[in-house]
Amino acid sequence: MKFVVQVRLFPTHAQHVIKKVADAYTTVRAQVKAKLRDPLTKPIGFRKDAAQPFDDRCLSWQIPDRAISIWTVHGRMKGIRFGCSDEQARLLAAYRKGESDLVRRDGMWLLIATCDVPDTDVTEPGGFLGVDLGIASIATTSDGTRHSGKAVNAVRHRNRELHRRLQAKRTKSAKRLLKRSRRTEARFARDLNHVMSKRIVTEAARTGRGIALEDLSGIRDRVRLRKPQRATLHTWSFHQLGSFIAYKAARAGVALVHVDPAYTSQGCSACGHVDKRNRPDQETFCCTSCGFAEHADVNTARNIAARGVAGWAAVMQPDAA
Ligand SMILES: [Zn+2]
Repeated sequence: MKFVVQVRLFPTHAQHVIKKVADAYTTVRAQVKAKLRDPLTKPIGFRKDAAQPFDDRCLSWQIPDRAISIWTVHGRMKGIRFGCSDEQARLLAAYRKGESDLVRRDGMWLLIATCDVPDTDVTEPGGFLGVDLGIASIATTSDGTRHSGKAVNAVRHRNRELHRRLQAKRTKSAKRLLKRSRRTEARFARDLNHVMSKRIVTEAARTGRGIALEDLSGIRDRVRLRKPQRATLHTWSFHQLGSFIAYKAARAGVALVHVDPAYTSQGCSACGHVDKRNRPDQETFCCTSCGFAEHADVNTARNIAARGVAGWAAVMQPDAA
């Protein structure tokens, strides 16, 4: 009798389990076929705390109450509170679609929901806001706003010694601690990227401008030259900031142009004169031709803004370009 009840209550869970196993075997079969995997040395495993999908039959949202009800193997659990921002709640209420993934990470339960937000029509920009990405200042705009990297860099600096020690230990608990610490660090950087990208997009929308961003494909090499051990984290963080700006701009109908960053740091944003000596040090720009002086990052951002204007014209009139 009990068994019958369980089957009636959890058919979709059973389906998800079957689907998950079948998907895993499909993947492995493809890998074996492509000689990428030896099934004897690397069998399929399922982690106890792996993400589990829940569809609307198993999980219902009471967004105004910030609560969910969820079917579990112990029955229905009602009124489970969750935390999110007002903006996230608005998105969930209006655009949530499909399955949500339940994940347990660092002792926290997370629900990952997908929201399918339609893009707003892009407003014809009256000028461009240029954004320069860097290390001391993570993002500098052509208006002169500098978003400092101090907080993120301080956390990374503080953690570096700890990470080295944990890495050397090679025990299971050290590995776990290292993973947790890295995740906390990544979360911190992500929150900051959300704040910065929001400010940048809001400023562009408020002033009726588009956003010009340097094309990031070359950034890895450029950053690696300076600080090899930090390169990957920064590269990853830059790409995240770029993608946050892109989706927030799309949502707000703000035009976005990626520009070639070559010589943007050495060129004068007032007269166009390009010279290495325009940059006497990391922070200063002073044109050897016209005397224009500005913070180096702001000058770079102004050049990026100018290329944004040209890039937009080329997008709009491809034949003329
Ligand atoms: Zn100049």
